[in-house]
Amino acid sequence: MVKIFDSIYVNNSQEIVLELKDITPKGYIENYRRKLFCSTEGCNAKLSFVAKSGNRSYLRTWRYSLHSKHCLHFFVKEEGEISGKRPNVQIGVVYGDQMNRSQKEAFELELLSEEERVKRLEDKSRQRNNRNNRLRKRSTSEQLTIHMNLDPSKLTEDIPKLKARLYKRDVDTLKKNDLGHARTLIGRIQSVDYSEQNAIVRIYKNNTYMNVKFEKAFFASAPTYSNLFLYIQRFSEENDSVIFCATGEVRKNMDNDEFELIVINKEGLLIHGMTLPSLVASYATQQLSF
Ligand SMILES: [Zn+2]
Repeated sequence: MVKIFDSIYVNNSQEIVLELKDITPKGYIENYRRKLFCSTEGCNAKLSFVAKSGNRSYLRTWRYSLHSKHCLHFFVKEEGEISGKRPNVQIGVVYGDQMNRSQKEAFELELLSEEERVKRLEDKSRQRNNRNNRLRKRSTSEQLTIHMNLDPSKLTEDIPKLKARLYKRDVDTLKKNDLGHARTLIGRIQSVDYSEQNAIVRIYKNNTYMNVKFEKAFFASAPTYSNLFLYIQRFSEENDSVIFCATGEVRKNMDNDEFELIVINKEGLLIHGMTLPSLVASYATQQLSF
């Protein structure tokens, strides 16, 4: 969201432009509280000042106040909360570039030594907690139900969309509450099986195994990939413990009681840091080495 740097202080009929740097916590409490408004012309959204140490104080939209549609600071979520017309459900969309990023991070994490890994995860979780603390106040009253959707093209215009957070899991850390959700899975390749419209990459970590499945829906969205899984098979046979990262929906297989991952996007897989086309290209040019 765009940061708010200035406001209009309305006192009786007087209107004064107040910049963020002009507002002190004391001044806000004594004079400006409930009297600060968005400075966009024609927008009457009320603002509040959040005091933080150093120069980290900021202006934000007053709870339940609305920016006008043309305002730079307009956002849909508060409209949904206040009007009550929209269902209290948002569709969490996982975009292709987000999958790519998630898988690359997962691959890099897997390459790191155990010690570095723990440190990096701790750093990330600290950053996230800080961010959550900042956001918590805004979303206290209503719990949003987020349904994940891996395929943005299937969304209709009228459903509010939310960029969903994409969690990463090692094969051996999957839990029941991951079921039905989009996740990026990390493991080492055990085997690859494929036919024209079907491929299964079996991955493992610490003696836990699962299948990553590429079925009709995947090959419908990525028809050119149908003859390429043999390269993954070849690569995993020629190299030891190839790292495989995939983004899809977590399910439970009734037959063998294992978790499985269903991938439907062509951005949904990364083979030892390479996309499938780049792996194939490496074979074509014989530049493969790692
Ligand atoms: Zn506004």
